[in-house]
Amino acid sequence: VERRSKWKRVLRILEELEAACDTPVKRLRQVVDAMAVEMHAGLASEGGSKLKMILTYVDNLPNGSEKGTFYALDLGGTNFRVLRVHLGGQRSLSLKHDVEMQPIPQNLMTGTREDLFDFIASSLKEFVEKANDPDQLAARRRELGFTFSFPVKQTSASSGALIKWTKGFSIENMVGRDAAESLQQAIDRIGLDMRVSVLINDTVGTLAVGHYQDPDTVAAVIIGTGTNACYLERTDAIIKCQGIFTTFGRMAINMEWGNFWSSHLPRTTYDVDLDADSPNPNEQGFEKMISGMYLGDIVRRVILKISQESDVFGPASTLLSMPFKLRTPLMAAMHEDSSLELTEVARILEDILEITDIPLKVRKLVAKICDIVTRRAARLAAAGIVGILKKIGRDGTSGIAGGRSRTNIKLKRTVVAIEGGLYTSYTMFREYLHEALVEILGEEIALHVILKPTDDGSGIGAALLAASYSSYD
Ligand code: ADP
Repeated sequence: VERRSKWKRVLRILEELEAACDTPVKRLRQVVDAMAVEMHAGLASEGGSKLKMILTYVDNLPNGSEKGTFYALDLGGTNFRVLRVHLGGQRSLSLKHDVEMQPIPQNLMTGTREDLFDFIASSLKEFVEKANDPDQLAARRRELGFTFSFPVKQTSASSGALIKWTKGFSIENMVGRDAAESLQQAIDRIGLDMRVSVLINDTVGTLAVGHYQDPDTVAAVIIGTGTNACYLERTDAIIKCQGIFTTFGRMAINMEWGNFWSSHLPRTTYDVDLDADSPNPNEQGFEKMISGMYLGDIVRRVILKISQESDVFGPASTLLSMPFKLRTPLMAAMHEDSSLELTEVARILEDILEITDIPLKVRKLVAKICDIVTRRAARLAAAGIVGILKKIGRDGTSGIAGGRSRTNIKLKRTVVAIEGGLYTSYTMFREYLHEALVEILGEEIALHVILKPTDDGSGIGAALLAASYSSYD
């Protein structure tokens, strides 16, 4: 009898989780509306919303006609990459490129601005000199796009000051300084003939790759370790920056959507605890429900709770109390275990958390927890995407207020470039996201919305933007 009542308690925890994570389409539409409203607010005034809606000054996206050899530097974490892309003037779906990756020595992450950029510039020089570079013959200056994935206050498409360091960097004489200028100075010091022609965030790179391959691309979303999105906005809708001039009447806006928050988001006690334990409480609330950094840890917290309330996971595992012990790719592997006996679930519980001899019904329980957490994440990401479409009038509802019926609206083909490990490598996540997109938009409108996976926006996209911002034509 006691055993049965314990199992009942376990089932109650599961039911509570399921209820708290529930995302019926009605709720998703509330999230869509909240996203669109916050986007408006963030565009209306600086600090007007949790969505920063950062101006990128990028108004000129590559269109496929670009020609020449262009470089990119991608600095966003403990590694940096240099790339070279050759463009033939004809839109190509697979962009041929060379790439080299290098770790950043620990001491340079906390040293001086000059030392960091001198190191990067010398790697760049080596990379350039190793290859036969056709542009050297043409005697034209090499051009480079710089993807700098830290918070930047952008002042033009090719300049912006570092607001603060993240991800383990702490170079004091760099905060407030222009990142592109710092790189350019180091390049000049080392005697390399190269111009830093754009400074971008990785989502803008993804938008550039998407637009290069398909001119109907209006937005880009990244769902990997973290999550963010950017999109093309009409210049006259960017109220906080009235009078700004753009050649094409629109500009890419970096939403920083990971920080989105709305009371309509389905929040659990596990989310509250995860946030409280994080180094940035009350920040990145949307990201903490959606991205790869966190999903595994939400699941771990649910399993921990069940192990505290019952003995279905055997004797207490100390590993289970360790934050981030269960990584998202392994959580996904448990979720996607299609074997009859759920042997993969058993193996991962044992290997990672030292939880052994788990009966099948408990393995099923674990798979179910993974399903609930991932399904919620994917559906919320879908709602975020529709929020962007709504803001730019591509969700198929814009005519209704004007009295026209839905069926009379001429729907434009709308492409959203998408990348990131969670989307590309986690099939269940991707399928749940697509399913929710169709649910929210309706089948007919969803036919006009295409999610297009792109590759390496943060690298290739920067090189493509260097091309569209080239000083030569
Ligand atoms: P970034 O770290 O720059 O976001 P990616 O876009 O490649 O790099 O995303 C990597 C993240 O994607 C990992 O941190 C992980 O959370 C998630 N991920 C990678 N592979 C898988 C997988 N097979 N299943 C689930 N999540 C995955």
